[in-house]
Amino acid sequence: MTARIIDGKAEAAVLRGKIAAAVAQLKAAHGVTPGLAVVLVGQNPASEVYVKSKSKAVVEAGMRPFDHKLPETTSETDLLALIAKLNADSAVNGVLVQLPLPPQIDSAKVIAAIDPNKDVDGFHPVNVGRLSSGLPSLVPCTPFGCVLLAKTVHSSLAGMEAVVVGRSNIVGKPVAQLLLAENATVTIAHSRTKDLPSVCRRADILVAAIGKPEMVQPDWIKPGATVIDVGINRVAGEGGKSKIVGDVSANAAQVAGVLTPVPGGVGPMTIACLILNTLRAACMQRGLPEPKI
Ligand code: NDP
Repeated sequence: MTARIIDGKAEAAVLRGKIAAAVAQLKAAHGVTPGLAVVLVGQNPASEVYVKSKSKAVVEAGMRPFDHKLPETTSETDLLALIAKLNADSAVNGVLVQLPLPPQIDSAKVIAAIDPNKDVDGFHPVNVGRLSSGLPSLVPCTPFGCVLLAKTVHSSLAGMEAVVVGRSNIVGKPVAQLLLAENATVTIAHSRTKDLPSVCRRADILVAAIGKPEMVQPDWIKPGATVIDVGINRVAGEGGKSKIVGDVSANAAQVAGVLTPVPGGVGPMTIACLILNTLRAACMQRGLPEPKI
């Protein structure tokens, strides 16, 4: 068997096209242009790349970007003051603070300071609680993208065995909650899980969010399973150049039925879901119905 590879770039482009159309409609019908504020503190090169592509996607969707670049030495007090200002600004519908933050700033405090209705990253404890209570909420973008990709393959995830390897607040736990909300039977595995390969082999849908290059081996995968690889790992490539690989072995394609590639799988969907969350937030804040995407 050779797995079908899901083209995350193409899926994200389709999604972004639909979002742009919904934004145009929102502008025409209600005079509302959704706005996303992205706050970057310091000069982490990876964060700078992410922030640039987020702002580009915002503009392409017809939304308004509000970019704030703060120096590495920014105090927690100053960052919290900026967040309070963005919370109060009705032109700003979404607030995203790029993580990681410099050591003098408490990330948990910053996340908790964002208005939950503008929390387009879905990390605020109120949104975490709403998601696990099955209430409508803004949900974390990467997990949202994983589930949307799985749903491009399976019209319903109900009753499927899903195994999520990883239990971080950013990926593992929320992806598990979203799969549960889709009525999958969900197992969360982590570094203390016993006999991880056999737990993984149970999965009709296997989500790898570990951060360990190519850790998931072909014989961990049930033949025909859908494998969503969230991992982004930089490793040494040919000719001294580095390359990006996922958490799943390249040979998994011989066993899986469907596989998301790295790069070009979950990554592009993450940004598209951020834009979708900004649109959803703008509608929620105006008391308008959830956009049909
Ligand atoms: P974390 O380091 O926060 O979490 C990793 C998880 O993997 C932990 O729950 C850990 O278990 C588990 N784990 C680590 N080693 C093992 C092991 N040997 N066996 C089983 N489980 C293990 O990472 P993130 O969740 O933030 O990210 C995961 C990956 O996804 C990374 O490669 C990251 O770069 C990528 N990522 C990709 C995004 C995208 O847009 N595509 C966005 C965000 C992340 P324990 O809790 O027991 O320590």
